Formats: sequence, C-alpha cells, structure tokens
Amino acid sequence: MTSLAKDVLLKTVGVKRMFGGLAANDNVSIEIRRGQVHAVLGPNGAGKSTLINLLSGDLACSGGSILYRGQDITHLSPDSRSRMGIGRSYQKTSIFPSFTVFENCRLSAQSRHPRSTAVWSNASTYPRYVEAAEKAMHSTGLISHAYRRASDLSHGEQRQLELAIVLCTEPDVLLLDEPLAGMGLEESARMIALLKTLVQSHAILLVEHDMDAVFSIADVITVMVNGVVLQTGFPDEIRSNSEVQRAYFGH
Ligand code: ADP
Ligand code: MG
Repeated sequence: MTSLAKDVLLKTVGVKRMFGGLAANDNVSIEIRRGQVHAVLGPNGAGKSTLINLLSGDLACSGGSILYRGQDITHLSPDSRSRMGIGRSYQKTSIFPSFTVFENCRLSAQSRHPRSTAVWSNASTYPRYVEAAEKAMHSTGLISHAYRRASDLSHGEQRQLELAIVLCTEPDVLLLDEPLAGMGLEESARMIALLKTLVQSHAILLVEHDMDAVFSIADVITVMVNGVVLQTGFPDEIRSNSEVQRAYFGH
C-alpha cells in the first residue's frame, strides 16, 4: 500500500442508487482522504445529498460498494458507521431544543459508546464525555454558550451546534450537506475557518452551493450531474473544464 492510498479513509466503488426508474447515483466512485476537503458540486437534483446518505448509511445502495479504511461497510447501519468514525451532520433533527448546548454535546459523545449508557452510575467514564463535549464546544466556538438552551441559539449557532454534535462522536470523516445554508457572511466565514482547522485531522466531504466558499476551501472537487460524476479534479482543473462549465455554471 502506498502512503497515498493509506490516506484514503472513505471510498465508493461504482455506487448506485435507484428511486423507481431514476438513478439518483449511478456508478459513482470517489475517494475521501484525510487532510482534504473534498467538495461535491452540481445542480439541484444532481445526487449530492443521495451520495451523502449512501455514505452515512441512511440510504441503502442499489449497487456498488462503500469502503471505510479498506473495510466493506456497504451494508452497515448508520449507527455502526457513526461509531466507526463516519460523522454526518443532520440539520436540526440531531438537536434536542430544550436541552443546553452542553447537554446536547454530552449526549452525542455518549452515543459513540452505547454499551456504557449506564454512565450516570459510572463515575469513571463520565469525564470522557464531558471532555469530548468541551472539546467540541471549544472548536466550534460555542463554549461561551454551553449553558444556553439550544432553542435559544441563532440560526448560525444552531448550525455550529449540529457540527459540534457530530464532533462529539470523535469522527475522522465529516459528511457535511450544505453547512453554510442560511448563514450570514460572518457566520459563514467563521464556519469556513473552522472547517479549515478541522481538515488537518479529518477527511471532509462538503456539499455546498456557495461557489466562493467551495473554491476557497476545497482541495479536490467532484462535479455531479444527473447522478453521475462528470469530473473529479483540483479546483483549477474544474474551473477550466468547458464541459463542467456548460453543465454546471451554465456557460
Ligand atoms: P441534490 O442533493 O444534488 O440536489 P438529491 O440527491 O437530493 O440531489 O436528489 C437526486 C435525485 O433523486 C433527484 O431527482 C431527486 O428528486 C431524487 N430523490 C432524492 N431522494 C429521493 C427519494 N427519497 N425518493 C425519490 N426520489 C428521490
Ligand atoms: Mg441536496
């Protein structure tokens, strides 16, 4: 195995997903490496969210396979994948609105280790969750909001909390579906800065509409159209490909 191959954490091989007669993903093969932001671009309906759902296990593949650190995980549940290190953010649905930021984070940290749910009575494991929660709150800039109710956070802060909740599971892969959606300029800039820090120790798959954000942060870009990969390349290659420009940028 070359050192480059070792860096691949998550990989799809000819992945396919049918919805009735529609191939939402068809023969999609991508490699997601530690230390890289791998952005997926494409018009609405291109299959980007489907790809994230296939990687997280929220959707089953109709064909092809998914490998995590070389292990076939095609048929594993979302929970198993999360416990292995594949972190996926869920918009809103992962947040308990009436709980504080800290409690949301701590509960997420516990979910990574479900056998020890008796933490309430186990003083030795509890600090681990608190530590993971504090670390995630620090890195997402939420530490000063630790004791606020999640429902009282601004939109941008809630998106940060979604990411914090994922980080509490100590993933090495982050699957992010439009993390900047609905954010103001300042919040976006903060999130981009955070992703730039996180990518040093994670592999990040980023689906994002904000082109400026994508080109400022992506190391590799895959362009999808109608469920298939049009091209995977470095940002400069993607920018200069006329086929990509026609299909995606509309000129
Ligand atoms: P994107 O995220 O790139 O906008 P999606 O992955 O959400 O695209 O959708 C790809 C295609 O699959 C679209 O044509 C969409 O209508 C279809 N699709 C997605 N999810 C479902 C579903 N649960 N049932 C039926 N069709 C779906
Ligand atoms: Mg989508």
